[in-house]
Amino acid sequence: MKKVLVAGGAGFLGSHLCDRLLNRADIEKLVVVDNLWTGREENVAHIRDPRFSFVRSDIEEFRTSDKYDEVYHLASPASPPWYMREPKRTISANLIGAFRLLDVLKKGGRFCFTSSSEVYGDPLVSPQPESYKGQVDCTGPRASYDESKRCTESLLFEMQRTQGLDVKIVRPFNVYGPRTRPDDGRAVSNFAAQALTGRPITVFGDGLQSRSWGYVDDIIDGFARFFWMNETDYRGPLNVGNDREISVLEVAQYVSRLAGGAPIVFEPSPPHDPTNRRPDLTNANYVMPEWSCAISYEEGVAKTLEWFREEMNITTAQVDQAGSRRLGKAGR
Ligand code: UDP
Repeated sequence: MKKVLVAGGAGFLGSHLCDRLLNRADIEKLVVVDNLWTGREENVAHIRDPRFSFVRSDIEEFRTSDKYDEVYHLASPASPPWYMREPKRTISANLIGAFRLLDVLKKGGRFCFTSSSEVYGDPLVSPQPESYKGQVDCTGPRASYDESKRCTESLLFEMQRTQGLDVKIVRPFNVYGPRTRPDDGRAVSNFAAQALTGRPITVFGDGLQSRSWGYVDDIIDGFARFFWMNETDYRGPLNVGNDREISVLEVAQYVSRLAGGAPIVFEPSPPHDPTNRRPDLTNANYVMPEWSCAISYEEGVAKTLEWFREEMNITTAQVDQAGSRRLGKAGR
């Protein structure tokens, strides 16, 4: 029976991963360590499993005498406005967090880390295979995130090389879905929250920059398959994403349509906003041939909008009203 620790387990991805972990019968104890910086207690409030416990702490400061068979490191903000506001804290969570987690890992245990497609920076190659070295600026405004993900990957692969550490690293691409904070600041969640509250949808730049939007259930399914795999000759890291690339403007227009015609406004681009992002899934298809991103962005965005509507306690009638108010205004 295994003892498992999930750092960042009250976050968007972390909480979905906990749900999957608790389906496993070989786990006797699941501890979530989360400082609730970007995570939310509500994300794990539904868990009633006696094996589960929650500790509110920075991962760097977490103290325990226990050792764990598996550790999952998801303790990091992932939204640009959040990590750009607190870059030092972001670097610390990723890197010092990883050092701390190495200390609590049992000898022979497995270390799983969620890196990011941001390690490719603003890519000059499309789609991006894991072997692409990326185009990242270590003095740029996104560096706290990009470079701490890169450095944590380096730390773990070097531990693998020199000490045989069992390491599993994934690089997710633009994940969206239920349990994103309404004030998260990333595209899909912003668009949903804006459209539902009668505010205009903000598209940064001309909106022609593109991303590969992955619905959370598909992405977590990919994580689980890779993280729990024992027999593979692929050492990672592994891209996990949807390889259908869609412009930001198209997503904004789709959300607008779903929400009764919310207006779209154009605002200046954030600094160093990557122009494109698409995973090369050759390795993912090789390692887990039965996996794919089955949920289209049309379906996933609609589900996400519905979740936000419930979460923010907005009735369909209110959304319709906001829509007709806008139509009324447009007619005047
Ligand atoms: N974006 C936007 N409006 C928003 C939030 C984001 O147009 O309200 C754009 C952002 O400039 C980027 C893309 O959507 O080009 C994806 O941004 P996000 O923050 O979701 O993820 P990123 O890939 O930048 O980490």
